Amino acid sequence: MATPTPDQILEALKSVEDPDLHRDIVSLGFVQDLKVEGDKVAFTLQLTTPACPIRDQLKASAEGAVAALEGVATVEVALSATVPSSAGPGTAGAEPVAPGVKNIILVGSGKGGVGKSTVAVNLAVALKQLGASVGLMDADVYGPSVPMMLGVSDAQPTSKDGKHLEPIEVDGLKVMSIGFLVESDQAMIWRGPMLNQAVVQFLRDVRWGELDYLVVDLPPGTGDVQLTIAQQVRAAGSVLVSTPQDVALLDVIRAKGMMDRVQIPVLGLVENMSFFLCSHCNERTEIFDHGGAREAAKKLSVPFLGAIPIQPAVREGGDRGKPVVMADPESEISQTFLQVAREVAHQVSLAAVGETETAAPTLRMSP
Ligand code: ADP
Repeated sequence: MATPTPDQILEALKSVEDPDLHRDIVSLGFVQDLKVEGDKVAFTLQLTTPACPIRDQLKASAEGAVAALEGVATVEVALSATVPSSAGPGTAGAEPVAPGVKNIILVGSGKGGVGKSTVAVNLAVALKQLGASVGLMDADVYGPSVPMMLGVSDAQPTSKDGKHLEPIEVDGLKVMSIGFLVESDQAMIWRGPMLNQAVVQFLRDVRWGELDYLVVDLPPGTGDVQLTIAQQVRAAGSVLVSTPQDVALLDVIRAKGMMDRVQIPVLGLVENMSFFLCSHCNERTEIFDHGGAREAAKKLSVPFLGAIPIQPAVREGGDRGKPVVMADPESEISQTFLQVAREVAHQVSLAAVGETETAAPTLRMSP
């Protein structure tokens, strides 16, 4: 039986569509390194993020489409990912942070105490665990808590060239915080335009290297520092964190308004402290009127990224310097954070793929 030609195989693969991008995987440039050897077909699916939530589904569909062709006995599909950059032309005045930083994700909240830093830290760790190269910038000048949450409060960043700071590495995650340089209670007294510029400059003065994602933990609220960062840093988008109470949700609407003003897409809303999940009996208790953020996301027409329960393990992880996703990655709560990270990566891909041309498929025929 005749083996199908590469063109016939690509034609068959065109029937596989990415359900979110609404385009087939061939025109998206996902199919790479197609090899046909007798009745064996092998190719790589190059996705836009290692944290793709539908990677297994796409792989199975692609395998199925080729296996159905006559003359094909085996199909081998390898998965890889190249994260596209959203650091292209952006809003006037916004500059990329560094040439190697592909996507900046701003994590904000309408008010303090809703778990913004907790979400930023666990999101960064989760993206790293899903295979991406990740940095975490603690820009919460009024209460830098990232060093404590990652157990590196005593770290002293160094500089090799006298101009750039080397980030601190925690399990492969590159971390920088204003808290490394000043005592957290001193940061509180900084105010005014000098501070706003200083924070943006600080972000640029770090030698981040090559990063798929740089997660930035913003100060809470919608003040000048947040606005200056959002205006001057070319971000892929923002993740807004809220608790389910009405007051917090009203504040998050203000935060969305600020992002709109500076044309930063809101990648989605996370509901933190959504409900209480008892670690002994697994019973779920709705402490607040749970579900408010999902409703708010709908009203604001932004994606809902997930609901994080209130659990002692989350606070303990933060206090002990080992975020729960690092300390206990298999736990249910960590799986929820990982799912939020997949959704965030997915939203970044949607935004970036919409803007960039994708690569043509590469073919490798055996002689
Ligand atoms: P923010 O950055 O919004 O001010 P933090 O991330 O510092 O808030 O969180 C405030 C406190 O709440 C911290 O002690 C943190 O450990 C705790 N916390 C945050 N999210 C959760 C959660 N889902 N379950 C339990 N404790 C949490």
